[in-house]
Amino acid sequence: MAAKKLHLDVITPFEKVFSGEIDGIMAPGHEGYFGVLPGHAPMMMQLSIGEMKLKVDNKDYLYATSGGFAEILPDKITILAEAAESADKIDIERATRARERAEQRLARKSEDIDLDRARMALARALNRLKVASRR
Ligand code: ATP
Repeated sequence: MAAKKLHLDVITPFEKVFSGEIDGIMAPGHEGYFGVLPGHAPMMMQLSIGEMKLKVDNKDYLYATSGGFAEILPDKITILAEAAESADKIDIERATRARERAEQRLARKSEDIDLDRARMALARALNRLKVASRR
């Protein structure tokens, strides 16, 4: 008998990033990383900036995600992400520029800088660079 699978959809405001059957997923929740296998109890999770790992037929597929929500049902997960890129689609030069911009803003410390916004931009850029370095 074939092992049970989960249907996963990963949707962002820009595109459908993934739609298919998976064996399991690890994702960055607000309170730390969590894993889901087929048959999981229904729940909602808030997502953080981090690395998402899909397991399909004993292979791992890495994505950088930038927050959002996950609806978990026993046979289906829907992730509404602010952004999600598979490791091989990450533009390293763009993420490096984003990191430099955010670092410069944070270093200036002037009053007209939105510090939280700069910190989040830096976290997204560093996460993308980390995920890209593992491809
Ligand atoms: P930037 O300042 O470079 O736009 P950002 O963190 O502000 O970075 P987001 O608002 O998170 O960008 O994402 C906007 C869109 O651009 C999303 O579709 C996201 O997947 C894509 N994107 C952002 N950075 C990269 C990257 N380095 N490589 C590939 N896609 C990226």
